[in-house]
Amino acid sequence: MHIGNLRTALFAYLFAKSQNGKFILRIEDTDQGRYVEGSIDVIYDTLRTAKLFHDEGPDIGGGYGPYTQSERKDIYRKYALELVEKGAAYYCFCQKEDKDSDSQEGYDRHCRNLPPEEVKALLESGKPYVIRQRIPLEGTTSWNDLVYGEISVDNSTLDDQVLLKSDGMPTYNFANVVDDHLMDITHIIRGSEYLSSNPKYILLYQAFGWEAPAYIHLPIINGRNADGSISKLSKRHGAVSFQALVEQGYLPEGIINYIALLGWSPKSEQEIFSMDELIAQFSVAGVHKSPAVFDYQKLGWVNGQHITMLDPQVFIRDAFPFAGIRGTFLEPKWQKLASLLQSRITKYSDIPEKIAFLFRLPEYSTGLYIHKKNKSTLETSAAILGKAVERLSDVEDWSEESLLDAMTSLAGELGLKLGPLTWPVRIALSGLMATPGGAIDILYLLGKEESLKRLSDGIQLISKENLVDEK
Ligand code: ZN
Repeated sequence: MHIGNLRTALFAYLFAKSQNGKFILRIEDTDQGRYVEGSIDVIYDTLRTAKLFHDEGPDIGGGYGPYTQSERKDIYRKYALELVEKGAAYYCFCQKEDKDSDSQEGYDRHCRNLPPEEVKALLESGKPYVIRQRIPLEGTTSWNDLVYGEISVDNSTLDDQVLLKSDGMPTYNFANVVDDHLMDITHIIRGSEYLSSNPKYILLYQAFGWEAPAYIHLPIINGRNADGSISKLSKRHGAVSFQALVEQGYLPEGIINYIALLGWSPKSEQEIFSMDELIAQFSVAGVHKSPAVFDYQKLGWVNGQHITMLDPQVFIRDAFPFAGIRGTFLEPKWQKLASLLQSRITKYSDIPEKIAFLFRLPEYSTGLYIHKKNKSTLETSAAILGKAVERLSDVEDWSEESLLDAMTSLAGELGLKLGPLTWPVRIALSGLMATPGGAIDILYLLGKEESLKRLSDGIQLISKENLVDEK
């Protein structure tokens, strides 16, 4: 499910729940040409995973079923014929090459004023037909959109769109109006790409003599291009489906939190929301007209906050498959490693990169040993590493407690605080300026043999560089 569609569903859900209303799932499957195998399962899975629970729908029923449009075919036919009766629609016998298409651009209104007896004869001869909306040629159609305000469109700019196709199926544009009326829908939330179709819907309500629902159109979602410009969000900007984001290790609640902010602002400064908090704070007044920009960095920050808030046991269970440590020396130490990672990642798939240094020491510059605040120089570092190797070689029980004891007592003997002592140790162990966890954590994770090897290698690296310097 594209993020844009999920955002629309989310806003509909938040609005319905904030008003003690019902959130209804209707499957709109009348365009057989666009049917994609498995897509209905994706809708169910996504709504369930995202915790957007519907109150009525094809799977759970409700007072207004059936909720799948292909099962309502007869209903649309009846209402299309009613419009023909009323003069608001007409039969069109023009054969089109792509009969399945909903598109009808540039139709010349050839059949709009066919004499009734000619229509009757053509129908009796069994000639295939579609039913088209008879759009008034003059005047304007207006409505008050709850986000975009008063909108007025000249009817002369609208086409006589197809309502019922030659296969007897309704177009989306017709079925949604009939169903929204029959299902007592009060508010419709959809993307602003439907704004241009809206006057045709309004004219249908008027032709039937029905009251139109309230409309809430949402701003489009753009992505940022490499050159800084923006364009409609697409795959070249990054993952754009809910499934793809979940596969990358974003949490459903993190994604939901972030996309709630795409086109909506809360009254408060709050940025991290649970679903209940979103429901409590959501209001249409906070929905913007201007396009939203999907910012993957912001998504990562929001998601990272949600990961940090997880129950550690949930993190341990759910992050493990992403870590890539099954069967390695780190698997038995996953609980410890997980505790270091939980507050330091934006998504689960960040983990392999964060822990790569544990599998293989990266090449590093000895400049990392030089640290003013810790009064660390190459000379002091080499000396400390030597002492650390000596002391740690004697540690039998390689537990965090023993390691902390060993390092604390060594610091005492050298007259150093723990920080200045562990700085060069951590650098030699990781080759990195910043790591998840400190020297003691990394010693523990690497184990005795690998730790001692890396510390000795650190001493060698420094002395090699000193030799070069002296030349
Ligand atoms: Zn025609």
